[in-house]
Amino acid sequence: MQRSQPVQSCSSMTTIACPMRSRSRLSLSGCTFKALLSRTVDGTHVAPEGWGSIVSEDGGRLDRLIGLLRRRGIIHPAFEIHGGIAGLYDFGPVGGRLRRKVATAWLDHWAKHGDIVEIDSPTLTPESVLVASGHVGEFNDHISQCDACATTFRSDHLLEGIHPNPDSLGCDELNSLIAANDVTCPACGKATWQSARPMNLMFATSIGAMKSSRPAYLRPETAQGMFMLFPSLYRHFRNRLPFGAMQTGKGYRNEISPRQGMIRLREFNMAELEYFIDPEVTPSHDFSKWNDTPFSLIPDPNNSTGDRELDSAAPVGMTIGDACDNGIVRHPTVGWFIAWTWDFLVGIGIDPNRIRFRQHEDTEMAHYATDCWDCEIEGSYGWIECVGIAHRGCYDLQAHENATGSTKLRAWRAFDQSRVVDKQGLVPVGAIIGPAFRDRAAAVSAALVGLDQIPDSFPFELTLEDDSTVSIEENMVERKQIQSTEHGEWFTPHVVEPAFGIDRIIWHLLDHSFDETQKGGENYTYLHLAENIAPIDVVVLPLMEKDGMSELAGDIHAKLCQSAGLASYYDGSGSIGRRYARADEIGVPWAITVDHDSIGDGTVTIRRRDDGEQVRMSVDDAIIKLQNGSVGSAF
Ligand SMILES: [Zn+2]
Repeated sequence: MQRSQPVQSCSSMTTIACPMRSRSRLSLSGCTFKALLSRTVDGTHVAPEGWGSIVSEDGGRLDRLIGLLRRRGIIHPAFEIHGGIAGLYDFGPVGGRLRRKVATAWLDHWAKHGDIVEIDSPTLTPESVLVASGHVGEFNDHISQCDACATTFRSDHLLEGIHPNPDSLGCDELNSLIAANDVTCPACGKATWQSARPMNLMFATSIGAMKSSRPAYLRPETAQGMFMLFPSLYRHFRNRLPFGAMQTGKGYRNEISPRQGMIRLREFNMAELEYFIDPEVTPSHDFSKWNDTPFSLIPDPNNSTGDRELDSAAPVGMTIGDACDNGIVRHPTVGWFIAWTWDFLVGIGIDPNRIRFRQHEDTEMAHYATDCWDCEIEGSYGWIECVGIAHRGCYDLQAHENATGSTKLRAWRAFDQSRVVDKQGLVPVGAIIGPAFRDRAAAVSAALVGLDQIPDSFPFELTLEDDSTVSIEENMVERKQIQSTEHGEWFTPHVVEPAFGIDRIIWHLLDHSFDETQKGGENYTYLHLAENIAPIDVVVLPLMEKDGMSELAGDIHAKLCQSAGLASYYDGSGSIGRRYARADEIGVPWAITVDHDSIGDGTVTIRRRDDGEQVRMSVDDAIIKLQNGSVGSAF
């Protein structure tokens, strides 16, 4: 299913033949981006450890950026002294807070709408959940093993450049294309292959010990947690749609050969939101906020609902309101999430000119989905899918209902006018129900009369209004043809799901803000990170560590660190110019410098990262302005 990572362009998920799998979900780690591949040295059968090798076409910019991220403790290959493991990364002393600020910004962005709440669910997931969701059956990539050297590769990677969409092929097609094209082993050069076979991408484990253990997996996505909590969410929102639930957290996928650094990971940071809607209600979203913001859209070239001729694969500039009105975006709530996704990305510093939304073609969408858009961001690896926005219909809740028999994954829709219908009903036999259930007998009778569906067999479990259950035997009821007045009906809500790859977004934030220039004849590097996500808010620098300057600077640093939401960094070593450069290199927006005058009059300078301009103000003013975010107004 798709649930995993959506992506189409990507796909690690292979799927084709699997309706479930899909590509509609973010495939955070799995994409075979052709642009990427063309820039990587491939062919190592074992995934390159660490960052992997990168062929630079940009004068080494990418290598320098990656070097900076490692050197300054932003992102670092994990377990390096043990040799490292491809696809696993640490966020270091600077990156850790960057990751958290981006995740927090994401949660805050959606929470402000008032009908979306945060939840948190286990990453360890019992097998039955992932059987129901489709992951156990369909969450696969195909692998091919070289007969000569035993190296394994993703089968579709072997066909890059040979087939336009190799990740969409099944085993037979992969095998015949590999044979017909004499594809050679990138490791040893031979062309003898074992047959391609599917490999499930989940990390398997078990819960409990020995015979009582249950099979389980590390979750491949966070979305199942929101579906499991639907009954609780429905109650929380007083049984009224629409509403949403979201969570950020880790997802796992056992990539066969992770490449491209932060783009394809084995353990990744996800942020997903499930927004539950009534399919019979047409939502009215206000798109006027974006009337002057044409988005770059690449509609499905086969889109027949629009009233314009669409040029295949070419982006069109269009407001989201127009795209919804003319049917290019097929559901207004999908359009609404596209617009708010754009706001989020631009709000944390992604270059708005390097964002586009690409609609899935029918052939790349899961069968149950009605509209899917990938948000792609352009960076050093080309256009990369970073967000998937999918209208998934009732698929997910229905799949869990089918698997469990639970009727709790439904919502109630009241009729405009009550309807009188003839139907089979169960009438409680008071003489038996009474003694059997005593003070709960009335509640049991009410639940029996209110049953929508008569069970096929006895005994069956009946859920009472207080959510407790009782067992009903055949002799407790009589089947009768009854007339009933119906005031509404139960239905399975539909869901619109935006799924964000947080690591990919962080990668592009770093890529877009990485700026190399010259100062005094030397190379000089900035990270122009937005103030709201910069991991360190301010650096405090004594001009020299003598004459009381380091003590005052230490005091200021301590006060700033005690301010909620502020991170300060003290740096007392090296020339002041070098210290500014070190701060600029990790994107610290503000620098406070304590000099000789500070000791005399209690003033300091505040320097702005992006232009080096400085203003002088009292220590107290500086602290207050940093605390309330108004320091920029002093310039
Ligand atoms: Zn080989």
